Amino acid sequence: EPRRILNPDRRDDDVDTHLRPQRLTEFIGQAQARSNLEVFISAAKTRGEALDHVLFVGPPGLGKTTLAQILAKELGVNFRSTSGPVIAKAGDLAAQLTNLEDRDVLFIDEIHRLNPAVEEILYPAMEDFQLDLIIGEGPAARSVKIDLAKFTLVGATTRAGLLTTPLRDRFGIPIRLQFYTVAELEYIVTRGARVIGIGMAPDGANEIARRARGTPRIAGRLLRRVRDFAVYRDSDTITRQIADEALTRLEVDEAGLDAMDRRYLKAIALNYGGGPVGIETMAAALSEPRDAIEEIIEPYLIQQGLLQRTPRGRLLTSNAFKHLGLAEPSREGA
Ligand code: ADP
Repeated sequence: EPRRILNPDRRDDDVDTHLRPQRLTEFIGQAQARSNLEVFISAAKTRGEALDHVLFVGPPGLGKTTLAQILAKELGVNFRSTSGPVIAKAGDLAAQLTNLEDRDVLFIDEIHRLNPAVEEILYPAMEDFQLDLIIGEGPAARSVKIDLAKFTLVGATTRAGLLTTPLRDRFGIPIRLQFYTVAELEYIVTRGARVIGIGMAPDGANEIARRARGTPRIAGRLLRRVRDFAVYRDSDTITRQIADEALTRLEVDEAGLDAMDRRYLKAIALNYGGGPVGIETMAAALSEPRDAIEEIIEPYLIQQGLLQRTPRGRLLTSNAFKHLGLAEPSREGA
């Protein structure tokens, strides 16, 4: 399995932690989310209360974890972090919850992957800051209520539709993150270059930004690969030419699509006449999990106007055929 340079889901090679913005004012992009958060944070601080529960929704790598950490910093409280798949038993979550202090932030990444028994105990915790625990078994079992500190739950998920309705309804502040503009990514990449100690020409930053799939995590990863290439070329500055050469070698094309993206588009174009074709069929054709296709591959292709989700299935646009250099089949009788 070739490693996807553009897979936004891999964290092991994330940019150094000092690249992560620490305050809301240092956070680039997501203007609407930022200005909303600013208001809610300031209101919570003025009232001396915990911030309402926040749900971040958006594709991987757009800054959900970073914003959660920033929230805790801006509120001046502790940041505790876990993730849906990691919490195996209700008791694990109970332990986390009882350790929280007043107004602390508890971040749960991939919150849509909580198991139902764990999710149950979140409801009273979020609503009444209470834990309902069953102690013992059989006839001796009894229920105890434990008061919790008034905390803020910050959840992150790739798609809001994956959450159960009762859980989704308990978040007072739902925030949807958007793909970043090229200008925003240029700024992020230029700042990143300064931190890792390599010169960055404006046209070099533009080249990386255009090919980063609208995603800061990918921009950071491309930056480091291009930096390696510049060092190899004995250059102390990343120019457009160096960036282009490096990214072409990594099979990231001018639109920022990688081999996997093109394979997906090509399969629809060549095997299914451009669609519509069902997602399950595509998952089988590519031997990729449906979730990965829907959460990692498709959002960017849709945002770029290369793919449409229709009730009858996935459909390539004319732009996709153009991008692949393929003739568009005539859709007579369509
Ligand atoms: P998510 O939780 O949505 O998957 P992260 O918060 O982990 O994404 O961010 C992924 C990477 O991108 C991190 O290395 C982070 O520092 C960087 N990043 C995210 N958003 C920004 C931003 N607005 N400005 C600069 N870097 C960012």
